[in-house]
Amino acid sequence: MRATLMYEAGDVRVEDVPDSVVKEPTDALVRITASCICGSDLWPYASMPSADGPVRMGHEFIGIVEETGSAVTTVKRGDLVVAPFAISDNTCAFCREDLHTSCENAQGGFWDGIPEEGGQAEAVRVPLADGTLVKLPVAADSALVPSLLTLSDVFGTGHHAAVAGGVGEHTRVTVIGDGAVGLLAVLSARLLGAEQIILMGRHQARTDLGRDFGATDVVSARGEEGIETVRDLTGGHGTHVVLECVGAMPAYEQALGIVRPGGVISRVGVPQYEEAPIGFGSLFRHNIRLAGGPAPTRAYIEELMPAILDGSIDPGRVFDATTGLDGVPAGYQDMADRKSLKVLVKP
Ligand SMILES: [Zn+2]
Repeated sequence: MRATLMYEAGDVRVEDVPDSVVKEPTDALVRITASCICGSDLWPYASMPSADGPVRMGHEFIGIVEETGSAVTTVKRGDLVVAPFAISDNTCAFCREDLHTSCENAQGGFWDGIPEEGGQAEAVRVPLADGTLVKLPVAADSALVPSLLTLSDVFGTGHHAAVAGGVGEHTRVTVIGDGAVGLLAVLSARLLGAEQIILMGRHQARTDLGRDFGATDVVSARGEEGIETVRDLTGGHGTHVVLECVGAMPAYEQALGIVRPGGVISRVGVPQYEEAPIGFGSLFRHNIRLAGGPAPTRAYIEELMPAILDGSIDPGRVFDATTGLDGVPAGYQDMADRKSLKVLVKP
């Protein structure tokens, strides 16, 4: 079968690899019908040393179950399923608290931690299939597939940012980042009833989509100028919640400047730093809280799916390009160059 491998920064190849097969009784073998490239794939694409490669890529996919291990009961051959970006048993203490990204099962973890499997491929072995996979009530060629695919990661991650930040009615929200997660954080904040949603981003096609998803204001300035603009839009106070959907230090510093006293900075952009201001002058002085982490998207799939199925929301609009597996290396480059927002892959 064919699969995507990253050899080092800037070097992504599609190659023949050994066929994925069921190995454990709890596994399912899934033939992938829709996958995509993630903004988080761009971090290694920018910086991965050759000593760390080659690694299999892809952690968001929809596919058809081809075979199941003897212990699998919730999905069967022929089912169309979606997989979250984390593998989980859905039964341990943390999964029962809707924190599937902290699953304590020995086979739990992230796709990116399984060297011989990945979602940007023709097929994949899914560990803990009963806990990880969710059956989709549509056909593989449904027009809803792009939107349902966002349940793997970007929609659930944007939603998690809003939930972890405590967004509700009467909340003023700033979203930092106009990538797919930021735009879907806007959509989630709207669904949760936020009173004002300020989107910070510079790319107009993306911020226009953000307005369609519910942004009430768009701020293209960054740094001190961006902070001042947001403060002007909020009576000088800043917003109750800042959804930080980038992960770089300047985005965190911007969040510190924008959050209102007593407010929350909720981070879902993978932090590219270990040290950051948390002391008296940054968080402590005004009772600012820091929230967020890897989104347990498995916990949100059943909650977010009905509005996709009934057509009331269309998060799949974040996909602005579609390719086959052969086009995946170019897709990485197009996303790195910000020519594409998010690339859908049809293996
Ligand atoms: Zn678990």
